[in-house]
Amino acid sequence: MNLSILYRGPLASCNYDCPYCPFAKRVDPPELLRADRAALERFAAWVEATTDVQLSVLFTPWGEGLTRSWYRDTIVRLSHLPHVERVAIQTNLAARVDWLAEADRNTAALWTTYHPGQITRERFLERCTGLRRLGVRFSVGVVGLPEHLAEARALRADLPDEVYLWVNAAEGHRYDAEQEAHWTALDPLFGHSVRPHLSLDRPCHAGETAISVQGDGSVRRCHFIAEPIGNLYDGSWRPALRPRGCTNAVCDCHIGYVHLKPLGLRDVFAGGVLERIPAAWPPQRATVSGAGR
Ligand code: SF4
Ligand code: SF4
Repeated sequence: MNLSILYRGPLASCNYDCPYCPFAKRVDPPELLRADRAALERFAAWVEATTDVQLSVLFTPWGEGLTRSWYRDTIVRLSHLPHVERVAIQTNLAARVDWLAEADRNTAALWTTYHPGQITRERFLERCTGLRRLGVRFSVGVVGLPEHLAEARALRADLPDEVYLWVNAAEGHRYDAEQEAHWTALDPLFGHSVRPHLSLDRPCHAGETAISVQGDGSVRRCHFIAEPIGNLYDGSWRPALRPRGCTNAVCDCHIGYVHLKPLGLRDVFAGGVLERIPAAWPPQRATVSGAGR
């Protein structure tokens, strides 16, 4: 049995101040940080003990996790477990990456996002170079805002072709054909992000071979359907797993629609679903080098 888990604890603080984010420069009180740490420890112990399932874990904190030692330590710890195929986290890559030397780099991976205005491109690229030196799998992404386009192009040009750069359509932003073409030149898969996917009643792996887990152990199909289907810590998640259609009208976030069966994106991202790396990357050298320039 294979199961992908998106884990999100109470942590909601971030060291960055992105203008498009509700968690910008948010500070968590000490008691919340303690609760987040305790919840993560409980989850990690559950992962360690659940050896009859091949597990893949993506940490999707509201804020930034890698500035907290307990996320770094947990990724190292889980990466060494034989029944854990992947452990990854979404991160702004502000923190140093040398701690990953302690991890099993066949298992640990990062989903990184470049936020222009919060970090220089040079510093961000230094972090990427550090990851490559360590042999850590990672993707790099940007939010597709018009004011990010020049930086995104420069980043794409500076990154080695082997590194996949994804682009997320900015929330509430409409793209005309020309704008879409600009971003698609950087990320050939941008088309999946630019239009929400109609998902109502369509079969989705979420709730069958992928679940979302909160700090208290409550299990939902995905981050986008609030109704719990069980709890991780009382075993009720096991009988709850079954094929289902989506109950939402649309699914517009990669960590959701990558599991929407009719899209077939699990095949496109085979081996890198959680850290968002396509199976066949780079597709063709000419497609990536100097894209959009
Ligand atoms: S780095 Fe991420 S969590 Fe932090 S402010 Fe920016 S978008 Fe929000
Ligand atoms: S399509 Fe999206 S919203 Fe619907 S169940 Fe799947 S992941 Fe959840």
